[in-house]
Amino acid sequence: MSTFQELGLNEDLLKGITDLGFVKPSEVQQKAIPLLLEGEDKDLVALAQTGTGKTAAFGFPMLQKIDIASRTTQGLILSPTRELCLQITNELKAYGKHCKGLNVVAIYGGSSISDQARAVKRGAQIIVATPGRMKDMISRNMVDISKIQYSVLDEADEMLNMGFKEDITDILSHTPDDKSTWLFSATMPKEVATIAKKFMYDPTEITVGNKNESTSNVTHEYYLVNARDRYQALKRLADANPDIFSVIFCRTKRDTQKVAENLIEDGYSAGALHGDLSQNQRDLVMKSFRNNQIQMLVATDVAARGIDVDDITHVINYQLPDEIETYTHRSGRTGRAGKTGVSMVIVSKSEVRKIKSIERIIKKSFDKKEIPSGSDIVE
Ligand code: ADP
Ligand code: MG
Repeated sequence: MSTFQELGLNEDLLKGITDLGFVKPSEVQQKAIPLLLEGEDKDLVALAQTGTGKTAAFGFPMLQKIDIASRTTQGLILSPTRELCLQITNELKAYGKHCKGLNVVAIYGGSSISDQARAVKRGAQIIVATPGRMKDMISRNMVDISKIQYSVLDEADEMLNMGFKEDITDILSHTPDDKSTWLFSATMPKEVATIAKKFMYDPTEITVGNKNESTSNVTHEYYLVNARDRYQALKRLADANPDIFSVIFCRTKRDTQKVAENLIEDGYSAGALHGDLSQNQRDLVMKSFRNNQIQMLVATDVAARGIDVDDITHVINYQLPDEIETYTHRSGRTGRAGKTGVSMVIVSKSEVRKIKSIERIIKKSFDKKEIPSGSDIVE
């Protein structure tokens, strides 16, 4: 099936798709949408890399299945971070632009809980939530999820990595047993399989691509430097790529803040994104990045999780992540929607052996590169 019409989507949604400029459904969409639209509601486990269009794969069927004439909350999407909640909410609103009366509400920490409760009370058919804030609102009787028919666990691997297992269990216990659950994940570690077993009834499984292979249009490079030259190396990489539009990953909030501050001081176009910033600051920096007002977003893994910004040219691992599996998520920020991208690792002697382990996970090899010297740098 090669068109959205053929997948069985209704006119209002097809109009939204045309407005968005989507021409052809992606592979995960081709597999998931017809399945989820079927009369008989089924549980689903879908494995697909970042950037493969998972939001639409669950978003379109949910929008088509819920009763928009009703004001009851029928759909619940759990996602690991506030940024992702907002991103999914905005995507769903765009998909459902022509669905009159549609009300999608985002629920996440760091922002007024009473405002969010009021928004839900006005009649949200769909709630997109982080597990922590959702649990909080349930315990305060601020939301009623007893009529949920469709629940989505988005980025399930990441939610479990972040320690949300108990919150998720608690939240789902407040939803009807006969609802459908759709689980989306980039990887399938044991914890995800356990969750699937616990909450789903005989789920259909779909896998897109090799579940351990990172996005194929990404090239991977590493740069071996003395640990103390890390920052210098970063600047040279930026100088050599004047049109860079990049996410730079650091290991801690402190390093993230420091690298961003240094870059700004040294005249680069940069911003910091990490959990010690207020929600307002985070929204602001995301907005400037999205609008290409800053070229380099320096971020922690948690803050940058799942962020979908078009046309990121480079992912720079200023430091490697503690868990090498996280590398896949980082490099998935670039090379999205058929574009090419480069994932660079700045690495010191003591960590260079980690490159081998990453190669095993991504099933691709790295190019060993030299930090550009003065003459390589574009003026
Ligand atoms: P994932 O959740 O798998 O990481 P997203 O749902 O965030 O991926 O989608 C990645 C990007 O691709 C988004 O910018 C989205 O708008 C775009 N996209 C999704 N489906 C299509 C499609 N069928 N055609 C073109 N672009 C698409
Ligand atoms: Mg996603």
